[in-house]
Amino acid sequence: MNFDFIEQYIKTHQHENFRYSQLVHAVQKGITTWDGVLGWPDGLKNELQNIIPFTSYTASQVWTSTDGTKKALLTLQDGQQIETVLMEPKSGHWSVCISCEVGCPMNCAFCATGKMGFKRALTAEEITDQVLFWRSEGNEVNSVVFMGMGEPFHNTKSVYQAIDVLRDIYGLGQRHISVSTCGIPAEIVAFGEKYPQLNLAISLHAATDPVRKELMPIARNHSLEEVKQALLTYLRTTKRQLMFEYLLINGVNDGPKDQQALVAYLQAFPKQLIHVNLIRYNQTYRGFEPTPVSRVKHWKQWLITHSISASIRKNLGMDIQGACGQLATAN
Ligand code: SAH
Repeated sequence: MNFDFIEQYIKTHQHENFRYSQLVHAVQKGITTWDGVLGWPDGLKNELQNIIPFTSYTASQVWTSTDGTKKALLTLQDGQQIETVLMEPKSGHWSVCISCEVGCPMNCAFCATGKMGFKRALTAEEITDQVLFWRSEGNEVNSVVFMGMGEPFHNTKSVYQAIDVLRDIYGLGQRHISVSTCGIPAEIVAFGEKYPQLNLAISLHAATDPVRKELMPIARNHSLEEVKQALLTYLRTTKRQLMFEYLLINGVNDGPKDQQALVAYLQAFPKQLIHVNLIRYNQTYRGFEPTPVSRVKHWKQWLITHSISASIRKNLGMDIQGACGQLATAN
């Protein structure tokens, strides 16, 4: 749903202003057809039907995991495809993982999306329609994480417009919207100034530059020190808790030296404002192996012993290739 277009259209075509609120109500209920907008005269429905599609996707396919997680493949107007995931990380709390680009330009060594290359950025409408899609299927959506395909800080214009729509129209509380980034320093600082109430997660994955550069090409442009300074500025502005994501890959970034480097890196941050989320590597056919579960648990214990709050991410949707880093489309 392209809200800006419709708002303008209603204003400039002498329709009553409340027609726009009626549309907003319809979308909040998960309606995805012009015909379904309650209260609209047939004339207006027909008019719009001929001008603009209601949703930015034309087809959808859904897979359901044995753990209840659902993954949808949405085909966009130009034939490109994106994936979005609906999961229940806590009982009764439904979270949608949304994509912000078709493919991703960051090309992290371990990620299936990166392997697809970068096709194009999504519009704000294509981003928010992922939430509309799940609602239209009768699902509750309580929170949104920008952890699907793409790098949010590589498409800030659409991502920021989408955040405003999710907050103002879809009614999601700012504290229920999280953005995850591979770490672009200037954008981290700008995000903190613009959205101090949202959550930020940083995909760290290594605490020394050589290992990080091997895994994440973006690290060749921005050192860990630069990222640290940006995060500290972010924390001074927002005073919000910051989440570090650390993907554990067997024999690559999960040894004792890596553990020590992580604890050393985190010393610069106020302990009460940071949390480390350990992610066990999900298979993506990129030639890496996951760290054994016992070592993942050891990492968590090690961090906690060093007074760093830590948890292990539940690997939801693995059997449907819907888990972190597994999102990729064929064409
Ligand atoms: N580009 C953003 C948003 C993607 S979020 C970012 O980098 O943060 C997707 C999360 O899943 C990131 O933390 C990413 O590093 C992680 N991830 C990528 N590949 C993975 C894999 N194979 N197994 C587990 N997590 C993976």
